[in-house]
Amino acid sequence: MATAEDRGTRRVHTPDDSFKSLFERCANYMDSAALDLVRRAYAFAERAHRGTSRQSGEPYIEHPLAVARWLAERNVTVDCIAAALLHDVVEDTPVSLQRLSNRFGPVVAHLVDGVTKFDAIENPDDADDEMTRIRERKHREQAETLRKLLLAMAEDPRVALIKLADRLHNIRTLDAKRPDRQAAKARETMDMYVPLAARLGMAEVKYELQDTCLRYIDPQRYAWLTRRIAEEVAARASRTEATTRAIQQVIVQHGIDAVVTPRVKHLYSVEQRIAPMNIDVGEINDLITYRILVHERHDCYTTLRAIHSQWQQLDARVRDYIGSPKLNGYQSLHTTVFGMDGLFDVHIRTHEMQRMADHGPVLLAAARPIEATDRTQALSWIEQVRSWQSELSPSAKDFMDAVRGDLFRDQIFIFTPKGDIKDLASGATVLDLAYRIHTDLGEQCSGAKVTGSNNIVRIEGRDYELRSGEIVEIIRDELVHPDASWQRMVRTHHARDSIQHYLRVHGLPVDEVPEEEAESCSQMASIRLAFCCEPGPNDDLLGVANGKRLIVHRAQCWHVTEDADVLTAVASNGHGNHTANGSNGNGHHPTPDSGSPGRQFLHMRWETIHPDKYRISLNITGHDRSGLMHDVAEVIAEADLNLVRVGAQTISDRYKATIWVTVEVRDQEQLQRVSQRLMGVEGVVSIERRDRIPRARSRVALMDHA
Ligand code: MN
Repeated sequence: MATAEDRGTRRVHTPDDSFKSLFERCANYMDSAALDLVRRAYAFAERAHRGTSRQSGEPYIEHPLAVARWLAERNVTVDCIAAALLHDVVEDTPVSLQRLSNRFGPVVAHLVDGVTKFDAIENPDDADDEMTRIRERKHREQAETLRKLLLAMAEDPRVALIKLADRLHNIRTLDAKRPDRQAAKARETMDMYVPLAARLGMAEVKYELQDTCLRYIDPQRYAWLTRRIAEEVAARASRTEATTRAIQQVIVQHGIDAVVTPRVKHLYSVEQRIAPMNIDVGEINDLITYRILVHERHDCYTTLRAIHSQWQQLDARVRDYIGSPKLNGYQSLHTTVFGMDGLFDVHIRTHEMQRMADHGPVLLAAARPIEATDRTQALSWIEQVRSWQSELSPSAKDFMDAVRGDLFRDQIFIFTPKGDIKDLASGATVLDLAYRIHTDLGEQCSGAKVTGSNNIVRIEGRDYELRSGEIVEIIRDELVHPDASWQRMVRTHHARDSIQHYLRVHGLPVDEVPEEEAESCSQMASIRLAFCCEPGPNDDLLGVANGKRLIVHRAQCWHVTEDADVLTAVASNGHGNHTANGSNGNGHHPTPDSGSPGRQFLHMRWETIHPDKYRISLNITGHDRSGLMHDVAEVIAEADLNLVRVGAQTISDRYKATIWVTVEVRDQEQLQRVSQRLMGVEGVVSIERRDRIPRARSRVALMDHA
């Protein structure tokens, strides 16, 4: 409200005046080193933007100043203020990100970079000149942009905060834009930024954006609503006053220290209530709600009881968002009671909860330095960003979908030991990550140290499937080199291409024992044991029959349950929301393979298959010594086994080594004999079956594989 008046009474002033007022605001809560950074950021930005002006005619620098000012009024940290001052410098001037980083440090540069990426996904047709349009269209063509944006946001929620402050100021000053651009900008804001503000719990921003945008999207409706709301508020004024006094009385009687304020519903909220039912403003009874602010959490419940002792509840349903807060952090008690002249709504919360409701957790957190290594916080934030994606309006979603394919939804986030976040397609392995970081690292990757959510560090092989939130440190071994089998350990195209490139350059065979060939030369032309889970004697088995082909999996193998899942969905003629088998139910399903409608699932017994050989993978752990690998390989060769794959990894302390082999054996007896002989090799400590049951991964990953 205050801002509208500000606009009305604004006198002509210089950017330095604006800066002075920003600086005074900052001086309330910053030390001198921080204030110095604010001063330097302003001087730098002012010089960079000098000579350019906004469409309103005022110097361009007034815009970043206003954005910084809004944030400073909410006591956010100095990094954020500096980044706000510099937020348009990289996009609009020749200043490079590197230069910003040198001058103001990596955190500020990173925030600016994130905000810049946001700009790139905005509507290019909305740009004011041809140059900008071309530039933005180019950005938009990069499917990577959105991924990077979300990653930037995931790494630091303050990127979204600055962007919202930026957008808020642009919307406040939309009058200066060309009329034909105003509605488009407003619509884009409704589509993208209102859901983001809602997701972040920034109600204050959300309401202002909604109300202002409606003014540009539908000016007539906006004018009508403004008038009708004012009329209704006036008509109800005496009743509102009486109710407020009555509530105050009840509270005093119960000895509660509280502030009672009647609140008029925001314009757009009124619109959302009346538009679907096509009713008038006068017909809604919660146009005015009564807000009661108390000091302590338990006062909320005392107050609720006091209200209910005086007025009859509408129904037994009290909405207790204190006991179970909303995802965005909102806490409050809501009740509806029968008053003197009809129903009225009461919202009860503490002053602290009110602050949370207005500003949201991210804004409040930005008022303190953010602990970059807090994984739990970072992950829950990532989840919030994901939800924002799913809440976008359909028109924005089409656009987003087009840009990103499925880049984001099925991604996992991995932390490096330094706390950086890397995103990968779900199902990605240690080897994928190694190649993502650097090709050299991929080519020398022998495994990884993985810290799970329990904070226990484990050593995993390069084919280990990573999970979101794990801290992963790649183990490098200069003696390790890619071979054809590595292609099976990766999910990402980048890693696969890199491996194939290496194989070709080094004249190594690119094709691994081709599955088709293995199948045809075996006697089981129509029965095949799955390579993914390597079924053996004593395993629970499930056959997947498709025409003349029968592939036998272990019953726990995810590939089977996934197939079964899809099949059930087809059989029951459902194609949307089938969520059996722990699938995540996000409505994202692969199209069932319509070319093979005759698939059947059969429980099977090993005896009935009696294959003449089967694959098994073993982990052989031993003391590291030169020649260990050679000796192991020799035992296997002597036993006349077909060695399918072999790999080795030295565990961190360098005294222990794990060799893994995949062999084809005739029966358990032969396996037993080989194991005994292997145990006889000097230094070997243990031999275990290496369980290769593929775990559930995203359906997209499966399709990618197919
Ligand atoms: Mn801006």
